[in-house]
Amino acid sequence: MTIAHPAPRPTTREERALALYRAHGEEIKHLSGAIYRVPSQDGQRSFDVEYGRHEACACPDYLYRGGSCVHILALAIATAKGTIRHPELAAGAVS
Ligand SMILES: [Zn+2]
Repeated sequence: MTIAHPAPRPTTREERALALYRAHGEEIKHLSGAIYRVPSQDGQRSFDVEYGRHEACACPDYLYRGGSCVHILALAIATAKGTIRHPELAAGAVS
């Protein structure tokens, strides 16, 4: 007999962002100001992401669909976990 499996739920952008962070979080780099470089999900490319008061990404998903893409979300996870230091969020930081 066969066991019926429930249909897989569609993968959400948040789940893909977490997978991206787990696979390539160490490769996220702060470039300058509010600009970061975030690897693509396959690790073959990378996109420049503006993160902070204004958020934008150079990837097609952001450009054509709009809203937060997996790169912005993965960067948000990285800053929340402290993997990446976020200058704008480091209040009172003395350099
Ligand atoms: Zn993106």
